[in-house]
Amino acid sequence: MKQITLAFLLIFSSQKIIAQNLNSVITQAEVTRIETTLAADDMMGRKPFTPGIEKAALFIANEFKKNGLQIFNGNQNFIQQFNVVETKLNTIAAKINSTENIEKEKCIIITGQNKINLTSTTGFAVNTIKTDDNFFDKAYSATEIKQNTITLVSKAHLPKFKRLNRLAESPKTDDGFTHIFITTDATEITALQFNAALNVTQKKLQNVIGYLPGKTKPNEYVIFSGHYDHLGTTKPNNAKDSIYNGANDDAAGTTAVIALSKYFAQQKNNARSIIFVAFTAEETGGDGSTYFSQQLNPTDIVAMFNIEMIGTESKWGTNSAFITGYEKSNMSTILQKNLKNSSFKFEPDPYPEQQLFYRSDNKTLAALGVPAHTISTAKMDKEPFYHSVDDELETLNMANMTEIIKAIAISSTSIIAGVDTPTRIPKL
Ligand SMILES: [Zn+2]
Repeated sequence: MKQITLAFLLIFSSQKIIAQNLNSVITQAEVTRIETTLAADDMMGRKPFTPGIEKAALFIANEFKKNGLQIFNGNQNFIQQFNVVETKLNTIAAKINSTENIEKEKCIIITGQNKINLTSTTGFAVNTIKTDDNFFDKAYSATEIKQNTITLVSKAHLPKFKRLNRLAESPKTDDGFTHIFITTDATEITALQFNAALNVTQKKLQNVIGYLPGKTKPNEYVIFSGHYDHLGTTKPNNAKDSIYNGANDDAAGTTAVIALSKYFAQQKNNARSIIFVAFTAEETGGDGSTYFSQQLNPTDIVAMFNIEMIGTESKWGTNSAFITGYEKSNMSTILQKNLKNSSFKFEPDPYPEQQLFYRSDNKTLAALGVPAHTISTAKMDKEPFYHSVDDELETLNMANMTEIIKAIAISSTSIIAGVDTPTRIPKL
C-alpha cells in the first residue's frame, strides 16, 4: 500500500494546526539525526556499566534540556540514578534433611545479603519445581515473590541451572528478599543447616527523565518511555561487526520519546503532566523501569505509552503498529478514535504466545493497575536482526518510523488534554 502522510490526511480536518506543528517539529531529518546518534558505533551497544551507555544518557539528557523540559520532582538533573547490587556466591556449607550435602553447583542464591546463615526454614516459604514443571516459568515467578523463599528443584533441571545463575549474578535492585534454589530429590525440608557467603558489589544505573508540568491537571501523569540500553559488544569475529547497535531495539523507541518531548514542549498546552523517560537495563530484566515505577504513586498515572522497536514495518506493512495488552484497558480504543482522520491503524498484539505485554518496561506499572502498554512494530516471529549485531540504522524505515511517532502524538491528544482517561488494568 502506498504510504500517505498524516499531513495530507489531516489537511482538511479540524486538526489542521496540530498537524502543521507536528509536521514541522517531528520531521524525518530530526528523527534520523537522533536515531543515528543513539545507534552509532561510538555508543558501543549502550550496555549498562559501560562508557557507551553513559554517553547515550548524556546525549538524551542534553536533548531534553534543549527541548525545554523540566527536571522531574526531586531529581538533581535529568539523570535518575539508583543503586543495584551484584552478588556472587563465594562459599557454601549446607545440609538438608540431615544427610544431603548441598554443593555450590547445586545451589543458586538471589539476594543482596553477603551472608546467609540458617538453622531452619523459619522466615522462608518452601516451594518445589518438579521434573515435569516448566523450570523457567516457576523459577522466575519464585524470584518475584515478596517473601524469602527456598525452592527445591528436581535434579532433572540441573542443566538449566546455569541460565538461572546468570540471572542471580546479574546486577539487580535489592528488594530485601532472598531466594534460594537447591537441586535435590527431596520434596520437603525436615532439617536444615545452611551457611553461605557471597561477594556483594554496589553499582549505579541511570534512567533519563524529562518533565512537562500539566497546565490544569498537574497531578495526573502521562508517560512516554523507551529503553536506551542494549547488549553492548561481542567478541570481534575477523571482519565481522562486534557492536550490538540496537538501532531498532530500542534506539528507535528512545528516539520517539525525544521527538515527542520536543513536540509537546512546543505545543505548551498539555493539561496533564507528561513524563518522558529513557529506561536503562531493560535487556537485563527491567531494573530501570522497576525503580522508576517505585518512585511514583501508580494511581497518579493515567497512561503509559512505552515504545519498543518501531523502526521496521509491522506485519501489516507501513502506517500500522501493534499495542501489547490491547484488550486489557480501553486505551487502544481512545488512541484509534483520535486517529480517525488518518489511515494509521493500531492493531492488537499478533504474538500473544510471546507474552510481550510482560516482557517490556510497561510491565511493572501494568501490574499495579496502570493502563501501561507497549507500542511496537517488531515482527517477533521473523525480525531478522533482532538481538543481532546487524540491528543497524540501514535496516530501518525512517519515513515510516517518523509517521509512527506522529501517529503516537496524535493518538494521545485527548489523554494529554485531560479529556479521555483510559480504564485501569486489573492488578496482578
Ligand atoms: Zn532487546
